[in-house]
Amino acid sequence: MTNQELAQYLFPDIKDVSYYEEKYRDRTLEEGAIVTRFAPSPTGSVHMGSLYQAFMANQMAKQSHGVFFLRIEDTDHKREVENGAAAILRDLKDFDIVPSEGFSIGGEYGPYLQSERKEIYQSYIKSLIARGLAYPCFCSAEEMDEVRKIQEATKERIGYYGRWATCRSLDNDEIRKRIDAKEPYIIRLRSQGDFTKKHIYHDAIKGDVEYFENDMDIVIMKSDGLPTYHFAHAVDDHLMHTTHVIRGDEWLPSLPIHLELFQLLGFQAPQYAHIAPVMKLDEETGNIRKLSKRKDPEASVHYYQEMGIPVPAVKLYLATIGNTNFEEWYLEHPEQSIDDFTFTFDKMPVSGTLFDVSKLENIAKVYFSKRTAEQIYEETLAYSLQHDPSFALLLQKYREKTIALLNIERGGDRPRKDIGAYPDVKKEFWYMYEELFDQKENPYQEVQKNYHVEDLEEYITTIYQKGKTQEEWFQDIKDFAAVHGYATSRKDYKANPEAYKGQVSDFCEMIRVMITTQTISPNLYDLMELMDSDTLQKRLQLFQKAL
Ligand code: GLU
Repeated sequence: MTNQELAQYLFPDIKDVSYYEEKYRDRTLEEGAIVTRFAPSPTGSVHMGSLYQAFMANQMAKQSHGVFFLRIEDTDHKREVENGAAAILRDLKDFDIVPSEGFSIGGEYGPYLQSERKEIYQSYIKSLIARGLAYPCFCSAEEMDEVRKIQEATKERIGYYGRWATCRSLDNDEIRKRIDAKEPYIIRLRSQGDFTKKHIYHDAIKGDVEYFENDMDIVIMKSDGLPTYHFAHAVDDHLMHTTHVIRGDEWLPSLPIHLELFQLLGFQAPQYAHIAPVMKLDEETGNIRKLSKRKDPEASVHYYQEMGIPVPAVKLYLATIGNTNFEEWYLEHPEQSIDDFTFTFDKMPVSGTLFDVSKLENIAKVYFSKRTAEQIYEETLAYSLQHDPSFALLLQKYREKTIALLNIERGGDRPRKDIGAYPDVKKEFWYMYEELFDQKENPYQEVQKNYHVEDLEEYITTIYQKGKTQEEWFQDIKDFAAVHGYATSRKDYKANPEAYKGQVSDFCEMIRVMITTQTISPNLYDLMELMDSDTLQKRLQLFQKAL
């Protein structure tokens, strides 16, 4: 039996590769356009590491007027979870990463679900068998296990190659007999590589990497007729005309296999760009390790939605870790957006990127500082409706007041950066909502100082008036403080501290503590302007009682 006859015998109804080569014609795109993809297994929700990959791939495609598509790699049913692919699409959409073609979107190069491409893979497997470049293998899992044990014991390379590749030399007639007898089999590549030969590959991110030719007769089709990742990758990225394979660097060791597959299949290999993983410092062990979907809550992209960190802030963070020069560029171009920046592969980190939550928080604070009070109000309301309904009611009740609060020290050269997530609005301004203040059992519990509350009472009841300008307001305070024993200049106070109750700033602090229970707050004048007189009186009484 010839190789061609064997191929026909194994895949009688499978079309010739020329059919697919004809069907999936080259794309007509601008010179330099990057065609790339996100190719997850349908294992459910996207995690930070893969979101980062998808983000970068999308940017690279978009900025070059190329294509970013979504392929679902579901050839390993063991890893699949129900609705896993739908969850991936939803997560990408939440982060505004929208493939222009792919699974559940459509496009000319589909289907984009690998399990629906079985005949396509088999067509190329058939062609390899016909050319003597692939063969059925009947080795059982037990036999393979035995071989591995021997290889381990004799310290030889583990795998199916050379003298270990026993089915490689099976006669076609015997193969046919065994298949006729219903013996289960898989298909392996008949590798042509020589493991002693070293080459250099230029990875778009890693730069020059040395590798040895592959000589393993790797599995290309499993017993269920579906291809392995390696084979599906080669066929799909060829037929879908992927120019750049942007993927996790855990695949770098498989590069020799992929290069050989592309070569034996007669395909032009894409440019590979192996992305370094997102890492984290393990608090327990002190070691740096990969961010883990199982161990780290922050690995889940839903974590950020729960925490109320806006999507654009997370994306700014991804851009910051994605290109080492992004942060500086963004500082210089604060009015521009991520899409105005040109990402390059050579500015991507070569080894693990440390995931830094405090950095993300800072980025989020800067992001919020550039938003308008109305925008923050609306988004905080939307967030609270989902996560904190009772606060949402307060936001709705005090719409104007909340916007005014958010407007304090907004804009200008040095805007406040106290909000980094939606819940911070409540955390920062809770005292301005009577309902929240009343919920506190002992709001002044933390107050340490012995303030002169009698001065405060006199000021509030006889001097303070709403509606004055900030200058007038402050002049009133200074005048009042001066006649009540407070120093109006630092110098006077320093020279003779015993002679005074404190400085004007101490007097202001007392007002601030009464209103906010804390010594630091946004502009006191603005806060007072936003408080009605009844509330002010009530708070004064509470304050007096507490001290
Ligand atoms: N399905 C593979 C993974 O999830 C895709 C790798 C690739 O992008 O080629 O790791």
